Amino acid sequence: MAFLSGKTAYQESAEKIANLSFSIGVYRPPSEGGSASLLLRITENCPWNKCTFCEMYKGEAFVLRSVQDIKADIDNVKRISEELAAVSEKMGHEGRITREVGSVLLQAEPSLYDNYCFITVFNWLASGGKTAFLQDANTIIMRPDELVEVLKHLRETLKTLTRVTSYARSKTLAQRKPEELQAIREAGLDRLHVGLESGSDEVLARIRKGVTSAELIEGGRKAMEAGFQLSEYWMPGLAGIDLWRRHAEDTARVLSAINPHYIRSRPFVPSSRTPIYEELEQGRLKVSSRHDRLEELRVTIEGLDVTSRVCFDHMMNSWRNRRGGLLFHQDYEGYKFPEEKPRVLDLIQEGLAVGE
Ligand code: SF4
Repeated sequence: MAFLSGKTAYQESAEKIANLSFSIGVYRPPSEGGSASLLLRITENCPWNKCTFCEMYKGEAFVLRSVQDIKADIDNVKRISEELAAVSEKMGHEGRITREVGSVLLQAEPSLYDNYCFITVFNWLASGGKTAFLQDANTIIMRPDELVEVLKHLRETLKTLTRVTSYARSKTLAQRKPEELQAIREAGLDRLHVGLESGSDEVLARIRKGVTSAELIEGGRKAMEAGFQLSEYWMPGLAGIDLWRRHAEDTARVLSAINPHYIRSRPFVPSSRTPIYEELEQGRLKVSSRHDRLEELRVTIEGLDVTSRVCFDHMMNSWRNRRGGLLFHQDYEGYKFPEEKPRVLDLIQEGLAVGE
């Protein structure tokens, strides 16, 4: 009989899971959603928080969490995983995290329907439990020895992980010693997602990125030399119509000097919740048209001398081909350069031939 002291056979596990929590932030790159990465918030918000186009952490104070608290979070992920595995075993699913495992737990404890910790761990394990993303905006701002301690604990505790990634600021990468980055890499941080936005010093100053093009290059190169997989994001359209050419050419120059593994296009979308919106309203920044942006993209792509994969994995890369479909495919691996550079340039030509 599947009742224990008036409770279903799974209620005890469901209640245990409902009482376990860990900190999860809001933001992560799209590719980490695609791989159902475990999200772990090991610092809170952004230590810089001044970029005029960014709304992510505005109004939120940066917090460095203690190593002890982060480790406790990781341990709770493990406990939730163990409870899920135990339920699966009890159901004869041999530890696999199946839909049915989720169903019995939700029936036993309806509060799990909106328990984000349970949902995150469930989806992560159901996808193989392979990848984790460390939030929020600039994990490497932690003291290197503390970050190493956290990473070691993460890798020792959650053994199925094969890839751990995080956001990083170029400025902080440039400030770190090579041996510090090496130690962080060796402790188990594999991939860094860096918001480069623009290679133009004029644009960087205007958007208050707090970094120079020389520091972008230095930070990117240091990350590559330390052995990280590096994803650099740039923002077509960010310079509006007055500085677009400098933005396009200098971005290509800086990205070529870094030659990261991935280059990802994130077209500029003005938000009324950001300081840059005021510049737009006052006419100090004039947004480029979709065609202007495509022309800008052509200049950037032409200037790229890289062996990177160039990706358009964001819905704002919404230019159309002549059949009305998407101009670029939006998968996370993109186009391999230099081999597919002519193809991307051909696609841009096609997009320019299509009406606005
Ligand atoms: S560093 Fe990144 S998260 Fe922080 S304000 Fe700039 S764009 Fe936003």
